[in-house]
Parts: sequence; C-alpha cells; structure tokens
Amino acid sequence: MQQPRRPGFPARLPPLQPGTARAPAAVPLAPAPRPQGVGLDSAAVRARMVQRLAAAGIQALPVLQAMQDVERHRFVDTALVNQAYEDTSLPIGLGQTISKPSVVARMVQLLLGAPVAVAGLGRVLEIGTGCGYQAAVLARVAREVYSMERLRGLHERARANLRPLRLANVHLIFGDGMGGYAQGAPYAGIIAAAGGEAVPPAWYQQLAVGGRLVAPMADSRGQQALLVVDKTEHGFQERLLEAVHFVPLKSGVA
Ligand code: SAH
Repeated sequence: MQQPRRPGFPARLPPLQPGTARAPAAVPLAPAPRPQGVGLDSAAVRARMVQRLAAAGIQALPVLQAMQDVERHRFVDTALVNQAYEDTSLPIGLGQTISKPSVVARMVQLLLGAPVAVAGLGRVLEIGTGCGYQAAVLARVAREVYSMERLRGLHERARANLRPLRLANVHLIFGDGMGGYAQGAPYAGIIAAAGGEAVPPAWYQQLAVGGRLVAPMADSRGQQALLVVDKTEHGFQERLLEAVHFVPLKSGVA
C-alpha cells in the first residue's frame, strides 16, 4: 500500500521548560512563558495530533488545517483537558460523547470528497451538535453550517463553547434532526454524529444533487458502519465503509 504523503505542516517543538537547561545558580531564570489555555502550548500538541492524522491517511489539507485550528480542549470538561488531543472519544455530559479526532477528520474528509465540493463545501447540515466541536471544524471547510441538537442542555453548552469563536457561519438549532432542517436545504453535505437504523427520508430529500451524506448506520448484521450516500441526477449511490461506534440517533427533543 502506498504511504500517505505527509503534508508539510510546521511541526513546532514544545517550548523548553524553564529549568531544563541548567542555569548557573546565581543567574535568575527568565520568567516562565505565559501558559496558553491549559498550561501547555496547545498549538504544538495539536500539530502532533495533526501529524498523526496525516500518517493515518487524512490527506485533505483543509481538514488538517481545521483540526490544527480548532482548540478541542475548549470543548471538553476541565477534568478531561489533558486528554483532549488523544485519539479518544470523551464524555460531554447527558450520556453523550465528543467523537475521536480521527473519526471527525475522516468524516469531514469524506464530506469534502462530494462531487460538488471540489472548491469547498457550500451549506452543510450536522445532526448532533453535542459540544459543538465538529461544528467548529465544519465552519472552517464549509460556507454555512446548520447544526441540530435534540438535548437542550447540550445545545446551550455548544452555544456557550462556540460563542468566543465568533463563527458567523454556524447556526445552532435546537430540534430533532430526524426531520432535517428544511430552511437551509438543499445541503451540499449532511453529516450525522449519531447512529441510526436507516437514513431518515428528510435527509435524502434535503441533500442537493451532487451532494454527499456521511452518517453512522446499522449494517445488515446490526453493526454500525460509516455510510456514504451520493445524490446524483440518476439517484442515490450508497457505500458502507469501516465500523464505527456512535451514540444512538434518537427521536424527539429533551
Ligand atoms: N458532533 C458532536 C458529537 C455529539 S454526540 C461533537 O463534536 O461534540 C451526538 C449527538 O447527537 C448527541 O449530543 C445527541 O444528543 C445528538 N442526537 C441524537 N439524536 C439526535 C437527533 N435526532 N437530532 C439531533 N441531535 C441528535
């Protein structure tokens, strides 16, 4: 298999910790650099995460750049901040989880591969805002992002998490995403962060011709896998890809 080409990201080294270079005792140490965010240089930690994503096959530069730019640690609980850049899903409250960075990057890369998306995505619908992390990533690769959440507590949390980012192209909607969001349709991309048994009819309807849907769905054996649906002039083309583990897609709001 061909090795994925690593993009030339500036891989910054973490700053030297004060005290690691042996200074003569009499010379006072320079003041420690002001910690950014979580007391570590989070951009350097993200750069390493991005290198791992690239090595694992994420090649779309806009996706890698978005993963570099969005500070995932701002979307998780303070107690989990030190795990924010590990490739792991993390609890975000109300029994829900933020997806692993590798899964977010994979799904957004698939979305960008849609036939109409060659020059960047137009309008995108996300089902399952959760903490708002993926919406922030999508905001960097799509013109407009409509993101729906059925749990009011998480919808409010996402709003609070995203406020400081001032992303004018992200629209958060409290509501059941099973019916999609007709006001923003047709969408160049639809991406679901919760797994169901079958694609709700509204998602097929609200997808633009040339658009792509990426969602976790149950396969014939009831195992969850990533489903990619392309809407063409001649109908829908569907592909089931690798196994994934997402929280369930549920009806109604709470
Ligand atoms: N993209 C999110 C991941 C959230 S987990 C992030 O970056 O944090 C999936 C979310 O989907 C959960 O918050 C869950 O409440 C929500 N969800 C499940 N079914 C839904 C539905 N029918 N409509 C809207 N949101 C739904």
